Amino acid sequence: MLGRAPDPIDDAIWQQVAARVAWVAALDPGRAQRLRALASRFLQRKTITPIEPLALDPAQCATLAALCCLPLLEFGPEGLHGWSQLIVYPDAFRVNRSHVDAAGVLHEWDDELIGEAWDGGPLILSWADVEADLDDPYAGFCVAVHEMAHKLDALDGVLDGTPPLPRAWQREWARDFQQAYDGFVAAVDAGREVAVDPYAAEAPEEFFAVCSEYHFSDPALLRVHLPRVARHLERFYGRSPADARAAGA
Ligand SMILES: [Zn+2]
Repeated sequence: MLGRAPDPIDDAIWQQVAARVAWVAALDPGRAQRLRALASRFLQRKTITPIEPLALDPAQCATLAALCCLPLLEFGPEGLHGWSQLIVYPDAFRVNRSHVDAAGVLHEWDDELIGEAWDGGPLILSWADVEADLDDPYAGFCVAVHEMAHKLDALDGVLDGTPPLPRAWQREWARDFQQAYDGFVAAVDAGREVAVDPYAAEAPEEFFAVCSEYHFSDPALLRVHLPRVARHLERFYGRSPADARAAGA
């Protein structure tokens, strides 16, 4: 498999992807071509495992590949490193969590999730939630982008809200994100109304992942409320398809 170029996704399938995914339809031809090549590579490298009773046809698999590759348009195929399986549940899924606290007490609970990205492990998505994102693409949500942001973040070995970047940029990024995160957490803790999903206050890595969703689905909101974060994300991900659409391009 060394360096073998993937078979490109065929025209008929790609047209179905563009018809279903507003973010793909809004890309200029050059970036759309790049995304198609990335998605082809994704389909060659990753196993997509739907959990019964869900079944996925080739266009739906290509749609998932395209969504997962949207955050890689500038970063490139290195963003696919380190994991091999995409697991797709029909709907939100339950996971059992446990944690031993400082007093040695074991806490266990169930979480209902729509997506998850294990370090080095599979990327997990809920198909129902992927479809909800596609039905309402400019509402601020994209679970596939969220989980891929975690995968990019983890590439340098630490899940901390900073993906691998050139050194000088990484310093600026870490400073600006920390400042924005601290301000956001303070606002949420004070019970103030916040424009961005308060889940972003959970941890710096969630802040990065949630803001990544807004970059693709509501970048104007990000520019108003978190302008420095918006600038870094535009540099990291490239121009948002939502802006291309707003400009009529
Ligand atoms: Zn997350």
